[in-house]
Amino acid sequence: MQFTVKEASKRARIAAFYLGYPNVAIVFGSTIYLWNIKREHFLNDKKHLAHELCHVAQFRKYGFLRFLILYCWESLIHGYYNNKFEIEARAAESTSEQ
Ligand SMILES: [Zn+2]
Repeated sequence: MQFTVKEASKRARIAAFYLGYPNVAIVFGSTIYLWNIKREHFLNDKKHLAHELCHVAQFRKYGFLRFLILYCWESLIHGYYNNKFEIEARAAESTSEQ
């Protein structure tokens, strides 16, 4: 799957601020934006990579805008943890090789 990784991303920094996390990886389309995570470290973390690549696949499957709306809707109704797209991404983590 084709994807791009952007380190020290402003939008990931904003997400980290609002989420209250010290470090964040956030996907928009086929780009994974990182804040306080080194690119090399992220790419070597097979579970984390599998999780974010699942979101890249979800963007591809549903389309950019449609996925954003569906993701926000799921989070609103079920919360972040029980959002079906997060459940799917966590399942992808466990199928990744360590
Ligand atoms: Zn996720």
